Order: sequence, then C-alpha cells, then structure tokens
Amino acid sequence: MTDNIRQIRKRVKVMLDKERYQHTLGVAYTAAALAMRYHEDVDRAFTAGLLHDCAKCIDNAEKLRLCAKYGIEVSETERKALYLLHSKLGAAIAERDFDIKDRGILDAIRYHTTGRPAMSLIEAIIFTADYIEPGRSEAPDLEEIRALAFTDLTAGIKKILGDTLKYLDGRDRPVDPATKETYDYYTASGGRVPGC
Ligand code: FE
Ligand code: FE
Repeated sequence: MTDNIRQIRKRVKVMLDKERYQHTLGVAYTAAALAMRYHEDVDRAFTAGLLHDCAKCIDNAEKLRLCAKYGIEVSETERKALYLLHSKLGAAIAERDFDIKDRGILDAIRYHTTGRPAMSLIEAIIFTADYIEPGRSEAPDLEEIRALAFTDLTAGIKKILGDTLKYLDGRDRPVDPATKETYDYYTASGGRVPGC
C-alpha cells in the first residue's frame, strides 16, 4: 500500500461514521480483489473504493450548499432523494480536497450509485464492490451475486441492476433514470464490461 493511500484512508476515516468507514474498507478491499481478478490496477481500485462514499456523512443541507458552491447540477430525482447526491459530490471532493486527477477514479466515484451505460472496468468494479462487500447482508441472492462477480462481471452487474430496480419499485422509492438506462444497456442492448 502506498503512503498516499494510507493518507487517504486516515482522512476518510475522520469524514465518516464508524459504520460507513467499515463499509468503505469492505468496498476498498473487495474492489482490490476484483481488480486482481480482472487485471485492473489494484491501487486505483483501492483508492476509488476508499473515496467512493466520502460525501456520504455530510448532512443534506450541507450537501446542497456544497453542490451549489462547486457548480454541481442537482437533478429532479436527486432533489427528491438527496442521498443520491453523495456520488457526484464525492467525486468533486475527491478531486478538490484529495487531489485525485485520475478521471477513471473520479468517474467510478461519480457513478457508483446508479452505474451508467458503457462503464469502464474500474467503474464496474466499484459499482459491484459497493453491493457485494462483506459487510452487506440485506440484498437477496447475495451469495450467488458474489460468486458471479468473480466469474462474469457483466452478468453480476445485470443481476445487481435488476434486483435494485425490483427493490426500489417494491418500496415506492424514486428510481434514478440512470439506473434504468444502465440496466437496459447491459440487458436489452447486450453491453459488456470491457475485457469481461
Ligand atoms: Fe454510496
Ligand atoms: Fe457505498
């Protein structure tokens, strides 16, 4: 582990509550394991995992204030479900406060909640690691999805997106159109994660 990664880890720990920090470590290590499996750079994946939820524990009023300050546009869906904002805002904080210049890492943070069509490998890895990390227990078919993620990343993503849409629909929770678009891209349009 590089000194830089150690620094990021220390700083992130202060920004998050205990539970969110545990989740963050779970995502970082799971992302590193997926990176080993699919030949992504392990340090990049670990860094993106550490930072993916860095904006999660900022309260909603402050999230909105920071979005305005950083010129981040807040969509209709995000206004109704402010937690969705933590991905965009997290990417902005990673860039400004953590001096991350790697576009791939920033996009992996930015799109980790909804995914997006034609995700890069590192985006797909963070999206997946967020769902399957060891601290998760609530999602259905987790055992199956965890195995799938390490055998066929595209298939894993399809199953995660399908289950997420089902879950949100069943609870009358707002669905970000990006989740549906991503689902359609990997199912109806037959999109695949590059190299997987
Ligand atoms: Fe998140
Ligand atoms: Fe997360």
